[in-house]
Amino acid sequence: MSEKIIGVLGATGSVGTQALDVARERGYKVDLLFGNKNITKMESLAREFSPARVVMASEAAASSLRLALKDTATKVLGGRDALGEAIALSSAETVVNAVSGSDGLLPTLEVIESGKRLALANKESLVVAGDIVMESARQRGAQILPVDSEHCAIFQSMMSGSHGEIKSIILTASGGPFRDKSIEELESVTLEDTLAHPTWSMGQRITVDSATLMNKGFEIIEAVHLFGIPEDAIKVVVHRESILHSAVEYIDNSIIAEMSVPDMRMCVQYAVDFPERKSGVAAPLDLAAIGRLSFEEPRLDAFPLLSLARCAIFEGGAMPAVLNAADEVAVAAFLRGELRFADIARVVESTYLKLGEAAEITDLGGILSMDLEARAAAKEAVKAIIA
Ligand code: NDP
Ligand code: MG
Repeated sequence: MSEKIIGVLGATGSVGTQALDVARERGYKVDLLFGNKNITKMESLAREFSPARVVMASEAAASSLRLALKDTATKVLGGRDALGEAIALSSAETVVNAVSGSDGLLPTLEVIESGKRLALANKESLVVAGDIVMESARQRGAQILPVDSEHCAIFQSMMSGSHGEIKSIILTASGGPFRDKSIEELESVTLEDTLAHPTWSMGQRITVDSATLMNKGFEIIEAVHLFGIPEDAIKVVVHRESILHSAVEYIDNSIIAEMSVPDMRMCVQYAVDFPERKSGVAAPLDLAAIGRLSFEEPRLDAFPLLSLARCAIFEGGAMPAVLNAADEVAVAAFLRGELRFADIARVVESTYLKLGEAAEITDLGGILSMDLEARAAAKEAVKAIIA
């Protein structure tokens, strides 16, 4: 059993729950938990793992949880400002950031600031403010270990050569549930169809983003920042089986890839145990049982948000933040049943086109205000479609 100590932000969500499953299986101590409003689940996690501190995003949620945990030694703190201090005081060596959406950005910066290792699932941190996050990590000498499965695979594949020997990154995509649907058929798919991902079980927003391929677009941006590889050297390939999690192509035309069963727990375990490898929490991969692996080009005409993400990283500044904010609003409206599937791309595209001036903005305050502006514009776009 391991002596590792971790913190988990977004502990009650899909990745957070899987990170805690790894902790349970591998015997990691859990010193810090952070959540938003799921008090019942947080109470049971706190009772199981006995962290020194639990932080809830709002003081109201913290008050209820404090009452529920009053017979325990766990200290419950509330409000966004409490998190930075709790991270700094924590004995965790690695903090897993599995908060969803751009709300994960400030926690990412706070973990980096603390000097602890950041196991990063929250890709929005890099989409919204990748330059700032990476510069902060560079200044602090902080380690960022990617938990997103593709980036975890790329991280591992990059060890086969030097940075200068890399020709391209091959980012694999399952293609989502609608990879075979025509553009006309995409107009009538339902919420239920969208949430039925063929290979991964994830939170709702990323499941919708996987169906539109917005998620793969975000992952291009994430890879540009994490690995210092230009956007035009990152290829996307649809790989239905979700076994080969991504690859690195070297200048001698060798391709080095990582393969495993699709299980996020593997990525969390890798990020915490790195540079060691320990016996796996995830199941072994039986290649003969899989039989075949397939690869094909993505259909850019049917899934326009993939190309829009390439534009956003090319245009730079706060354009990726605008893209993310518009998508968060559009996906939330889709999940509430207010938009049809094909409307998500319409809302995101129209918001993106409206806020072109964001390309000039590079400071954190400016990026966060563009995020708010993009949300307001996207809400207007949703209203216009509903009307
Ligand atoms: P979920 O929606 O399942 O979970 C989100 C978690 O974040 C919950 O614990 C939620 O708390 C918490 N949270 C949300 N907003 C706030 C906030 N403002 N302050 C504090 N906590 C907050 O998301 P996923 O687990 O699916 O995804 C998490 C991140 O990991 C995303 O960035 C996603 O892109 C990335 N990712 C996810 C993968 C997956 O397999 N699910 C794969 C690769 C990356 P509460 O429950 O209280 O609302
Ligand atoms: Mg991924």
